[in-house]
Amino acid sequence: MSYSNSTRSKATQILAERRRKAQRLQQAHHLTATEKLPEIAAYEAQLAETGLAVVKALSMGKDGESYIAQLSQMNQTVQSCIRELLVKGGFPADYLETPYTCKRCEDTGFVGGFACDCRKTLLAELSRQALESVAPSAHCTFDTFSLDYYPLPVDAQLGVSPRKRMAEILDYCRSYAEDFGPDSESLYMHGATGLGKTHLSLAIANTVTAQGYSVIYDSAQNLLSALEREKFGGGSGERAQELLDCDLLIIDDLGSEFSTSFTVAAVYNLINTRINRQKPVIISTNLTETELEAKYSQRITSRIIGSYVSLLFLGKDIRQIKKYDEA
Ligand SMILES: [Zn+2]
Repeated sequence: MSYSNSTRSKATQILAERRRKAQRLQQAHHLTATEKLPEIAAYEAQLAETGLAVVKALSMGKDGESYIAQLSQMNQTVQSCIRELLVKGGFPADYLETPYTCKRCEDTGFVGGFACDCRKTLLAELSRQALESVAPSAHCTFDTFSLDYYPLPVDAQLGVSPRKRMAEILDYCRSYAEDFGPDSESLYMHGATGLGKTHLSLAIANTVTAQGYSVIYDSAQNLLSALEREKFGGGSGERAQELLDCDLLIIDDLGSEFSTSFTVAAVYNLINTRINRQKPVIISTNLTETELEAKYSQRITSRIIGSYVSLLFLGKDIRQIKKYDEA
């Protein structure tokens, strides 16, 4: 799993802030408690002494072991005296403990060199928020994808029932998302406008993000303008790197953007590099193969058609049908 740099540094910042806040709170509690209960100071001096003694005993090797056990016993006794004193003074027993959000890693995000569960949860949540900020997608799930909008009768021209075809595509996308891995296939979702391509690619994005993978989802237009700004605005190139590195890149509505020689080269570079690195991409487009070729050259189109799993969406524009339903 490779979260983007920006997500990782945001998680580190949040954890550091949690840690600082917990420590500030502990200091404030300490001040309040010792003002009311000055006896605490004597106990704390004892704790400091046993602490020093432990350090000395450690250097004695095996001979120090029973002494260390004794010291830790003393330490626990002193701590329970402090707790009793606090309760008598009207404070909670744990009032002087640092109130870390995560006691396991004390809000550092790491335990024994490995990421703590709290950091993993935070990274997944930040990715979900990033996805939600570009496309409000919480309602786009596999369960909310309705097949009722697709005609059941066999289409005379195509020789298949659009609803049956879409049921297969829905099943395929659901398994794809549930079994997603860094070497999953790339998908080419194509077909006329309003047939649910965005809905299904967002449902995949939601499911894969929830599994802890880094997913970047955006319209081709937004992705390419961000790259263009970065290239010509003297940016760091961080966005371009993220698009190449993320576990799953989803480019929605390819072909709707204004194309220039820059966008053509950028799209080719993205698609080609990710194919070479065997990293999956999902492309959705309303364009036909011929239109895509005209816009992006035969070189890019044949790269997509040659290496992506093709999912041809069938049916009638759902947005139009919904409009009539609601009228
Ligand atoms: Zn933790």
